[in-house]
Amino acid sequence: MYTEIKICKLCKSKNLELVLDLADLPIGDKYLPEEKKNESKQLYPLKIMMCCDCGNYQNSGYVDPKIIYNFYLSRPATTNPQLSGAYKEYADYLFKNYSNGKEKLKAYEAGSNDGTFIEYMKKDLKMQVLGIEPSPNLSKQANDRSVETINDYFNTEVASKIADKYGQADFFITNHTASNIVDFEDFLNGVKIILKDDGVFSLQTFYHKDVIEHNLIENFTHEHLNYFYIKPLQTFLKNNGMEIFDLKLVPAKGGSFRAFIQKINGPNKKQEIVDTIQKEEEIFGMNDAKIHERVASFIADTKSKLQDLIENKNSQGKKIAAYGTSIGGTTFIFNYEIADALRFMVDDDPYRQGLLSPHFHIPVVSKEEIFKQEIDTIIILAPLYFDQIANKNLEFTKNGGTFVKIWPNFEIKKTDDN
Ligand SMILES: [Zn+2]
Repeated sequence: MYTEIKICKLCKSKNLELVLDLADLPIGDKYLPEEKKNESKQLYPLKIMMCCDCGNYQNSGYVDPKIIYNFYLSRPATTNPQLSGAYKEYADYLFKNYSNGKEKLKAYEAGSNDGTFIEYMKKDLKMQVLGIEPSPNLSKQANDRSVETINDYFNTEVASKIADKYGQADFFITNHTASNIVDFEDFLNGVKIILKDDGVFSLQTFYHKDVIEHNLIENFTHEHLNYFYIKPLQTFLKNNGMEIFDLKLVPAKGGSFRAFIQKINGPNKKQEIVDTIQKEEEIFGMNDAKIHERVASFIADTKSKLQDLIENKNSQGKKIAAYGTSIGGTTFIFNYEIADALRFMVDDDPYRQGLLSPHFHIPVVSKEEIFKQEIDTIIILAPLYFDQIANKNLEFTKNGGTFVKIWPNFEIKKTDDN
């Protein structure tokens, strides 16, 4: 079920060093109904290793993807208007800059979710599109909207079948999937099969430099096997006959990059930004094993502040709950050790209400329970959405309730502060 990874996923070196030892975690997104709750009991180690040869960061092991994804609660992209807007701009950028005058373009996406991104390429940019999505419910949603989608994981075998049946792609896209792949080399070999010689492989994923610089610790989960930054990725690609020729930093997930990749000797000119960003990584110290110490001290500091708050509220007999049930919420609950303090967790998504949190089985409820159960303090576990959540729940603070912000700085928010 849990397999230790003993070699670097990018350069195969065995020279790995532990740089961040996090709390053992259950599978972070396994919010399950009562009758299945024991399936989320198991804890797995979460240790971040650095490759001393190429500088890559990766998890010390991986959990069988079947266990992670058999009850997958990923929210469909169509329900997130912010995401849809960003994808439109992204698709336009690809089309405008890298179509190279070609017509009847083909665009395929691995990990295509409910097909929102390629649907835009199909309808507005008139491309022939195809999704490859491992989640059965999301690929069904895409097919139901006539965005043709194969329900599978992308690998060399699937790539060959697709290339035979549909032809090679002008654009091959993967958004927030690359870090979850067990065998990234096989994935890339698949990309080489499926991509035309003048095609563009566009890879978007969270940027590990942002994770460290801005303490985005919700990214440390068992889904994320690799923590990418540009330097080791570019080395790996070059060793495999490809290269990043353009790059864009985007705000998705608190900090992500979009790498535009082509086969070596492809038609696109290498942009200056590719080297500039690698220089910035070097100055920041991305390949220094000690760089994760700042993350460790951020975690220790936030944990101690939360523990003080909990002790104080408990001594006054005041009740505490959490808001938000994302996968990162599990990372917070375990590393800050706050589970015992939480009466329940609130989520606005009706599909999650009534489920129980991973391992500790904290009930997920609708926000009505905040008033019914006279909650005094709410810790927001979706820190990127703090303002959005606080503004939707002004009633709570008006009635004397307290919101706790755990990122980027620890803050206690009452109405008097506004
Ligand atoms: Zn390596």
